Amino acid sequence: TTTRTPLMAGNWKMNLDHAEAVHLVQKLAWTLQDKKHDPARAEVVVIPPFTDLRSVQTLVDGDRLKLAYGAQDVSTEASGARTGEISAHMLARLGCRYVVVGHSERREFHAESDELVNAKARATLGAGMTPIVCVGEGLEVRQAGDQVAHTLAQVDGSLAGFGAEEVAGLVVAYEPVWAIGTGEVATPDDAQEVCGAIRARVREVHGDAAADGLRVLYGGSVKAANVAGIMAQTDVDGCLVGGASLQADEFGGICRFY
Ligand code: PEP
Repeated sequence: TTTRTPLMAGNWKMNLDHAEAVHLVQKLAWTLQDKKHDPARAEVVVIPPFTDLRSVQTLVDGDRLKLAYGAQDVSTEASGARTGEISAHMLARLGCRYVVVGHSERREFHAESDELVNAKARATLGAGMTPIVCVGEGLEVRQAGDQVAHTLAQVDGSLAGFGAEEVAGLVVAYEPVWAIGTGEVATPDDAQEVCGAIRARVREVHGDAAADGLRVLYGGSVKAANVAGIMAQTDVDGCLVGGASLQADEFGGICRFY
Protein backbone atom coordinates (compact mmCIF):
# COMPACT_ATOMS: atom_id res chain seq x y z
CA THR A 1 0.00 0.00 0.00
CA THR A 2 1.13 3.51 -0.71
CA THR A 3 0.11 7.04 0.08
CA ARG A 4 1.41 8.25 -3.26
CA THR A 5 -1.34 9.66 -5.49
CA PRO A 6 -1.10 8.06 -8.93
CA LEU A 7 -0.21 10.47 -11.72
CA MET A 8 -1.37 10.19 -15.32
CA ALA A 9 0.47 12.62 -17.58
CA GLY A 10 -0.35 13.10 -21.26
CA ASN A 11 2.63 14.24 -23.34
CA TRP A 12 1.18 15.74 -26.52
CA LYS A 13 4.65 16.19 -28.06
CA MET A 14 4.58 18.53 -31.11
CA ASN A 15 0.87 18.11 -31.81
CA LEU A 16 -2.24 20.34 -31.69
CA ASP A 17 -2.43 24.11 -32.15
CA HIS A 18 -4.06 26.25 -29.46
CA ALA A 19 -7.59 25.88 -30.84
CA GLU A 20 -7.23 22.10 -31.02
CA ALA A 21 -5.80 22.16 -27.50
CA VAL A 22 -8.93 23.86 -26.17
CA HIS A 23 -11.07 21.26 -27.90
CA LEU A 24 -9.13 18.31 -26.46
CA VAL A 25 -8.98 19.65 -22.90
CA GLN A 26 -12.73 20.32 -22.89
CA LYS A 27 -13.44 16.88 -24.28
CA LEU A 28 -11.12 15.31 -21.72
CA ALA A 29 -12.85 17.17 -18.89
CA TRP A 30 -16.27 15.93 -20.08
CA THR A 31 -14.95 12.41 -20.48
CA LEU A 32 -13.54 12.35 -16.95
CA GLN A 33 -16.82 13.67 -15.59
CA ASP A 34 -18.73 11.07 -17.59
CA LYS A 35 -16.53 8.28 -16.25
CA LYS A 36 -17.00 9.66 -12.73
CA HIS A 37 -13.29 10.16 -12.29
CA ASP A 38 -12.21 10.77 -8.70
CA PRO A 39 -9.23 13.20 -8.58
CA ALA A 40 -8.14 11.59 -5.29
CA ARG A 41 -7.55 8.32 -7.16
CA ALA A 42 -5.40 9.76 -9.94
CA GLU A 43 -3.96 13.16 -10.69
CA VAL A 44 -4.45 14.04 -14.37
CA VAL A 45 -1.92 16.26 -16.14
CA VAL A 46 -1.72 17.44 -19.74
CA ILE A 47 1.62 18.44 -21.25
CA PRO A 48 0.92 20.52 -24.40
CA PRO A 49 3.37 22.44 -26.59
CA PHE A 50 4.43 25.85 -25.20
CA THR A 51 2.19 27.70 -27.66
CA ASP A 52 -0.94 26.03 -26.19
CA LEU A 53 -0.24 26.76 -22.53
CA ARG A 54 -1.98 30.12 -22.34
CA SER A 55 -5.15 28.68 -23.85
CA VAL A 56 -5.08 25.68 -21.52
CA GLN A 57 -4.54 28.01 -18.57
CA THR A 58 -7.69 29.94 -19.49
CA LEU A 59 -9.75 26.73 -19.42
CA VAL A 60 -8.34 25.38 -16.20
CA ASP A 61 -8.45 28.76 -14.45
CA GLY A 62 -10.37 28.79 -11.20
CA ASP A 63 -9.87 25.04 -10.88
CA ARG A 64 -13.25 24.26 -12.40
CA LEU A 65 -11.49 21.49 -14.28
CA LYS A 66 -9.62 19.13 -12.00
CA LEU A 67 -6.66 19.10 -14.31
CA ALA A 68 -3.09 20.21 -14.01
CA TYR A 69 -0.81 21.04 -16.90
CA GLY A 70 2.86 21.34 -17.59
CA ALA A 71 5.50 21.95 -20.22
CA GLN A 72 7.63 19.60 -22.32
CA ASP A 73 10.97 21.33 -21.72
CA VAL A 74 12.57 24.32 -19.99
CA SER A 75 15.72 26.42 -20.17
CA THR A 76 18.41 26.03 -17.53
CA GLU A 77 18.78 29.83 -17.46
CA ALA A 78 16.62 32.35 -15.62
CA SER A 79 16.53 35.02 -18.36
CA GLY A 80 18.60 36.84 -20.94
CA ALA A 81 20.47 35.94 -24.10
CA ARG A 82 18.98 32.52 -24.87
CA THR A 83 17.04 33.07 -28.11
CA GLY A 84 14.21 30.60 -28.53
CA GLU A 85 14.26 29.31 -24.95
CA ILE A 86 11.57 29.48 -22.26
CA SER A 87 12.43 29.99 -18.58
CA ALA A 88 11.00 28.11 -15.61
CA HIS A 89 9.65 31.38 -14.22
CA MET A 90 7.69 31.99 -17.45
CA LEU A 91 6.13 28.54 -17.16
CA ALA A 92 5.30 28.97 -13.49
CA ARG A 93 3.63 32.33 -14.31
CA LEU A 94 1.39 30.47 -16.78
CA GLY A 95 0.29 28.12 -14.01
CA CYS A 96 2.35 25.09 -15.04
CA ARG A 97 2.79 22.64 -12.20
CA TYR A 98 5.04 20.15 -14.03
CA VAL A 99 7.89 20.19 -16.53
CA VAL A 100 9.06 17.14 -18.45
CA VAL A 101 12.86 17.09 -18.55
CA GLY A 102 15.14 14.73 -20.45
CA HIS A 103 12.49 13.08 -22.60
CA SER A 104 14.18 10.48 -24.83
CA GLU A 105 13.34 12.56 -27.92
CA ARG A 106 15.31 15.47 -26.46
CA ARG A 107 18.13 13.20 -25.37
CA GLU A 108 18.23 11.80 -28.93
CA PHE A 109 17.55 14.83 -31.18
CA HIS A 110 19.10 17.52 -28.98
CA ALA A 111 21.87 15.45 -27.41
CA GLU A 112 20.70 16.23 -23.87
CA SER A 113 23.04 14.79 -21.25
CA ASP A 114 22.22 13.77 -17.68
CA GLU A 115 24.09 16.89 -16.58
CA LEU A 116 21.82 19.14 -18.66
CA VAL A 117 18.73 17.24 -17.49
CA ASN A 118 19.91 17.75 -13.92
CA ALA A 119 20.23 21.51 -14.50
CA LYS A 120 16.75 21.67 -16.06
CA ALA A 121 15.25 19.76 -13.14
CA ARG A 122 16.98 22.19 -10.77
CA ALA A 123 15.59 25.20 -12.67
CA THR A 124 12.11 23.64 -12.52
CA LEU A 125 12.30 23.09 -8.75
CA GLY A 126 13.65 26.61 -8.32
CA ALA A 127 10.46 28.01 -9.83
CA GLY A 128 8.25 25.90 -7.56
CA MET A 129 7.24 23.31 -10.17
CA THR A 130 7.73 19.54 -10.26
CA PRO A 131 10.12 18.00 -12.77
CA ILE A 132 9.11 14.78 -14.52
CA VAL A 133 12.58 13.37 -15.12
CA CYS A 134 12.64 10.87 -18.00
CA VAL A 135 15.01 7.94 -18.12
CA GLY A 136 15.12 4.62 -19.95
CA GLU A 137 17.16 2.36 -22.20
CA GLY A 138 17.23 1.86 -25.97
CA LEU A 139 16.72 -1.44 -27.77
CA GLU A 140 20.39 -2.46 -27.88
CA VAL A 141 20.82 -1.97 -24.15
CA ARG A 142 17.64 -3.98 -23.50
CA GLN A 143 18.82 -6.79 -25.78
CA ALA A 144 22.11 -6.91 -23.88
CA GLY A 145 20.14 -7.14 -20.60
CA ASP A 146 21.69 -3.94 -19.25
CA GLN A 147 18.45 -1.97 -18.75
CA VAL A 148 18.72 -1.63 -14.98
CA ALA A 149 22.36 -0.46 -14.87
CA HIS A 150 21.80 1.92 -17.79
CA THR A 151 18.68 3.49 -16.31
CA LEU A 152 20.12 3.80 -12.80
CA ALA A 153 23.14 5.64 -14.20
CA GLN A 154 20.73 8.13 -15.78
CA VAL A 155 18.87 8.46 -12.46
CA ASP A 156 22.14 9.08 -10.59
CA GLY A 157 23.24 11.73 -13.07
CA SER A 158 19.86 13.42 -13.43
CA LEU A 159 19.21 13.66 -9.67
CA ALA A 160 22.79 14.43 -8.62
CA GLY A 161 23.04 16.95 -5.81
CA PHE A 162 19.35 17.01 -4.90
CA GLY A 163 18.36 16.85 -1.24
CA ALA A 164 16.09 14.14 0.16
CA GLU A 165 13.16 16.56 0.47
CA GLU A 166 13.49 17.59 -3.16
CA VAL A 167 13.63 13.98 -4.32
CA ALA A 168 10.55 13.11 -2.26
CA GLY A 169 8.52 15.55 -4.37
CA LEU A 170 9.93 14.50 -7.73
CA VAL A 171 8.53 12.39 -10.51
CA VAL A 172 10.77 9.99 -12.46
CA ALA A 173 9.37 8.48 -15.66
CA TYR A 174 10.86 5.18 -16.79
CA GLU A 175 10.38 5.02 -20.53
CA PRO A 176 12.12 2.22 -22.40
CA VAL A 177 12.85 3.92 -25.73
CA TRP A 178 11.99 0.79 -27.72
CA ALA A 179 8.44 0.99 -26.34
CA ILE A 180 7.81 4.67 -27.16
CA GLY A 181 5.45 5.24 -30.07
CA THR A 182 6.05 1.71 -31.32
CA GLY A 183 3.01 -0.09 -29.98
CA GLU A 184 5.53 -2.33 -28.24
CA VAL A 185 4.55 -2.11 -24.56
CA ALA A 186 6.88 -3.43 -21.86
CA THR A 187 5.30 -6.22 -19.83
CA PRO A 188 4.14 -5.29 -16.33
CA ASP A 189 7.09 -7.33 -15.01
CA ASP A 190 9.54 -5.38 -17.23
CA ALA A 191 8.08 -2.11 -15.93
CA GLN A 192 8.25 -3.28 -12.30
CA GLU A 193 11.84 -4.50 -12.64
CA VAL A 194 13.21 -1.09 -13.57
CA CYS A 195 10.75 1.07 -11.60
CA GLY A 196 11.52 -1.00 -8.49
CA ALA A 197 15.25 -0.63 -9.10
CA ILE A 198 14.85 3.15 -9.41
CA ARG A 199 13.07 3.36 -6.05
CA ALA A 200 15.63 1.06 -4.42
CA ARG A 201 18.47 3.24 -5.69
CA VAL A 202 16.77 6.40 -4.42
CA ARG A 203 16.28 4.67 -1.04
CA GLU A 204 19.98 3.82 -0.93
CA VAL A 205 21.17 7.31 -1.90
CA HIS A 206 18.50 9.62 -0.44
CA GLY A 207 16.78 7.58 2.29
CA ASP A 208 13.31 6.26 3.08
CA ALA A 209 11.33 9.50 2.97
CA ALA A 210 12.66 10.30 -0.51
CA ALA A 211 12.01 6.78 -1.82
CA ASP A 212 8.51 6.60 -0.34
CA GLY A 213 7.54 10.04 -1.66
CA LEU A 214 9.02 9.76 -5.14
CA ARG A 215 6.52 8.90 -7.85
CA VAL A 216 7.82 6.59 -10.55
CA LEU A 217 5.88 6.50 -13.81
CA TYR A 218 6.03 4.01 -16.66
CA GLY A 219 5.85 5.27 -20.24
CA GLY A 220 5.76 3.49 -23.58
CA SER A 221 2.66 2.66 -25.63
CA VAL A 222 0.30 2.80 -22.65
CA LYS A 223 -3.36 2.41 -23.65
CA ALA A 224 -6.66 1.99 -21.81
CA ALA A 225 -6.47 -1.72 -22.64
CA ASN A 226 -3.06 -2.34 -21.03
CA VAL A 227 -2.93 0.23 -18.22
CA ALA A 228 -4.39 -1.96 -15.46
CA GLY A 229 -1.60 -4.56 -15.50
CA ILE A 230 1.04 -1.84 -15.40
CA MET A 231 -0.66 0.08 -12.58
CA ALA A 232 -0.95 -3.12 -10.53
CA GLN A 233 2.83 -3.15 -10.06
CA THR A 234 4.12 -2.09 -6.62
CA ASP A 235 6.56 0.52 -7.81
CA VAL A 236 4.58 2.01 -10.69
CA ASP A 237 2.82 5.19 -9.53
CA GLY A 238 1.42 6.32 -12.84
CA CYS A 239 2.03 6.61 -16.56
CA LEU A 240 3.51 9.05 -19.02
CA VAL A 241 1.37 8.70 -22.13
CA GLY A 242 2.22 9.95 -25.61
CA GLY A 243 0.04 8.93 -28.57
CA ALA A 244 -2.98 7.84 -26.53
CA SER A 245 -3.13 11.19 -24.72
CA LEU A 246 -4.29 12.89 -27.95
CA GLN A 247 -7.63 11.08 -27.78
CA ALA A 248 -9.94 12.13 -24.94
CA ASP A 249 -11.70 8.75 -24.72
CA GLU A 250 -8.50 6.76 -24.66
CA PHE A 251 -6.68 9.02 -22.20
CA GLY A 252 -9.82 9.27 -20.06
CA GLY A 253 -9.86 5.46 -19.94
CA ILE A 254 -6.22 5.40 -18.88
CA CYS A 255 -6.88 7.94 -16.11
CA ARG A 256 -9.82 5.79 -14.99
CA PHE A 257 -7.63 2.67 -14.58
CA TYR A 258 -8.77 2.10 -10.99
C1 PEP B 1 6.15 9.35 -24.54
O1 PEP B 1 6.46 10.02 -25.50
O2 PEP B 1 6.46 9.75 -23.41
C2 PEP B 1 5.40 8.10 -24.74
C3 PEP B 1 5.32 7.23 -23.77
O3 PEP B 1 4.82 7.90 -25.98
P1 PEP B 1 3.79 6.71 -26.41
O4 PEP B 1 2.78 6.58 -25.31
O5 PEP B 1 3.19 7.20 -27.69
O6 PEP B 1 4.61 5.47 -26.56
